[in-house]
Parts: sequence; structure tokens; C-alpha cells
Amino acid sequence: MANQNVTDCTIIGGGPAGLYAAFYAGMRDLSVRIIEVKEKLGGKLHFYPEKRIWDIGGMPPTLGADVMSYLMDQGKTFSPEINLNKKVTRINKINAQLFKVTSLNGEEFFSRSVIIATGGGIVSPKKLQANQGQLFNQPNVHYTINRLNDFKDRNVVIVGGGNSAIDWANELKEYAGSLHLIHRSDTFRAHESQLRQLKESSVHIHSYTSIEDMELDEKRESVQSITVKNSQTDQTYRLDCDDLIVNIGFEAEPNFHQEKEANLLLKDDYYIQGNSQTQTSVEGMYAVGDIVDYEGKVRLIAGAFNDAVNAVNQVKNHLNPESALPTVMSSFHKELQNRVHDSNSDN
Ligand SMILES: Cc1cc2nc3c(=O)[nH]c(=O)nc-3n(C[C@H](O)[C@H](O)[C@H](O)COP(=O)(O)OP(=O)(O)OC[C@H]3O[C@@H](n4cnc5c(N)ncnc54)[C@H](O)[C@@H]3O)c2cc1C
Repeated sequence: MANQNVTDCTIIGGGPAGLYAAFYAGMRDLSVRIIEVKEKLGGKLHFYPEKRIWDIGGMPPTLGADVMSYLMDQGKTFSPEINLNKKVTRINKINAQLFKVTSLNGEEFFSRSVIIATGGGIVSPKKLQANQGQLFNQPNVHYTINRLNDFKDRNVVIVGGGNSAIDWANELKEYAGSLHLIHRSDTFRAHESQLRQLKESSVHIHSYTSIEDMELDEKRESVQSITVKNSQTDQTYRLDCDDLIVNIGFEAEPNFHQEKEANLLLKDDYYIQGNSQTQTSVEGMYAVGDIVDYEGKVRLIAGAFNDAVNAVNQVKNHLNPESALPTVMSSFHKELQNRVHDSNSDN
């Protein structure tokens, strides 16, 4: 089953990198298709809709859900072809300017170039297990947070020591009745200012601590308390817990780019080895956002935007070196100027 529309570019992944690449490709007058495995665009932002994002240039601290919605609107500016619920399983290079991208259901998509924007891949939050191997999957164990207000006045325990766990602790401290953060070491992987904010707050930080056991209610449906152990002192103690928030990373399914036939050079068996221009080991195939690795790569939304512009300029150059222009500025873009003009005259 082949999609008849041969586009200039196929973008695999509809997270921040893919969406911004779709927008910028439109600015450069390229026809675009996005293929996304999930039923919605937005990528990892779906894991933190209620978290505030502070580090996007020019944007005041904004909820993840709002950033996602702005990105989707922007990504659709030039009406790319959007394919949801399609998992890409293979890419074949047919000739210098023709790629075939195949999805799990056997659909084939053809384009003159490919931008891989698959981020952390097809991911789900890592599940927590107690020492005894019990899995934490009760309804009051949360792997993502949708509404901060749900935790109002409750005894909350957060597990994890990365950026997300620290950010959640800082957000929730205004809502929770009590808030404990437990982490198996005393090294936190978080921005310094976020960590300082946490340490100056009333949040109880338990370093070198992990969960030994959990105590369930009579019906064995929800966690009521947890027993934790400090690995430095061997001391064990109990923490009351109305809600347990687990933030210990993500598990990714194997992805198409790791297959030998993709011919992509990888780093650490996962990341696509590229360069700051987002070129990969396959000409005509570019990698942007969290999936690409090169010296100085920034795995943030800001870094994804930068990659997207570079990749689209590379695509333009690859398809038609003669007509390639240097980076285009939106304030000089004729079609966008006309849209502003049209919307002003509507008012
Ligand atoms: C909890 C948390 C908090 C964060 N906070 C911040 C923050 O405050 N500021 C900041 O700048 N960054 C933050 N980040 C990082 C930021 O979310 C990432 O840098 C950004 O999402 C990377 O965008 P991306 O498009 O490269 O990848 P992703 O967002 O991972 O999107 C990749 C998309 O590709 C799709 N995909 C994968 N494989 C396939 C396939 N085979 N076929 C089709 N589709 C596929 C996925 O479903 C996904 O939609 C945070 C991340 C997390 C997890």
C-alpha cells in the first residue's frame, strides 16, 4: 500500500523537533509529511503537561500543555501531511533523492529526503519495583502528573533524582500537605537553580535512600505507606504516603534506526551520530532533537529548534544546491507577511 504523495521531506516523529522542522520546512517552501506513532502530536511534552517550562527563549514560564499546543499550531502553518498512529519500522534509500519509509502496517511513503525526529523513541515511564520485586502499579502510584490540584493537602512521596523529579518537587511543594523526595544517591541531575530552590524549601530530601517495601490498604488496592532504607546507615523507616510519584526514567522500544539496514552510525547503540548540521552517515537523511548526537548537542527544546533549522537548510541544499538560500527570517517571509496583512484587513 503506497502513499502516492511524494514529498520533499518526510519527518519521522511529531515532538518539538519534528513540529518545528515541519514549520521551518514550510518557510523554505518544501512539501512535508509528518509520521507519528502516537495518536497525538507533541512528543515527550505529553509526559509533563502541568509542568512549567522556563527555558524557551522569549517565552514566559509556560505549561507544557500550552507549549505543546503552540508547537502544534506552528507545525501546521504550512499544512503538512500528517499521519498519526503509524510506527515507522524501516527506511530504504532507493536513489540519491528518493527514500521509502515503511510503517508497521505495511504502508509505504516516498520522499526526497528524511528528517528523523524520534527523540527518546517510543517510550513509557520506567516502572518502580520494591526490593521484594513487587511492582508499583496501584492507582495512587503516578508515572506522570496531569493536574497539580489532585495532590492538594496530600502526603506525597516522589522517587527520583533527575531534572523531572526535582521540577515536580518544586511545583508540588505549594500543593502537597507533606512532600518527601527519595533518591538512591546524593547526586541530583538537575539545573542548579532548581536544586537550590528545592534545598531551600520545606521538602524533605532523603539521599542514599530507596524503597524496601510498600504497605497496602486492606483491599490491597492502594499504597498507604512505604518503608525506605538508607544505604549509608542501614536505617529503615516508614513514610506515610497518599500518593507516590515515580520519576526514574523511561524505557524505550527498539527503533528502526537501530536496524543494520538503516546504515546509520550510532552512538551508545541508540543515538544517531551526526554533526551540528544534523547530517547523518546517510546522505539525504538528517537527525534532529534528542535522537541526534554531536559535540555540543543540547538535549532541550531550544536545542531541538536549532537542529530543525539546520536540517531543513540541509534538505534544501540537498534537493537543489543552486537555489539554496542562507537561513530565512520569518519577518521577511512573503507568505507569512501576506497572512498578517490578510488577518489585519479582516478586523
Ligand atoms: C519530564 C520531562 C521534563 C522536561 N522538561 C524540559 C524543560 O523544562 N525544558 C526543555 O527544554 N526540555 C525539557 N525536557 C526535554 C524535552 O521534552 C525534549 O528535549 C524534547 O521533547 C525533545 O524533542 P524531540 O522532538 O527531539 O523528541 P520527543 O519529544 O521525544 O518526540 C519524539 C516523537 O517521535 C515519535 N516516534 C518515535 N519513534 C517513532 C517511530 N518509529 N515512528 C513514528 N514516530 C516515532 C514519538 O512518539 C514522539 O512523539 C523535559 C523532558 C522530560 C521527560
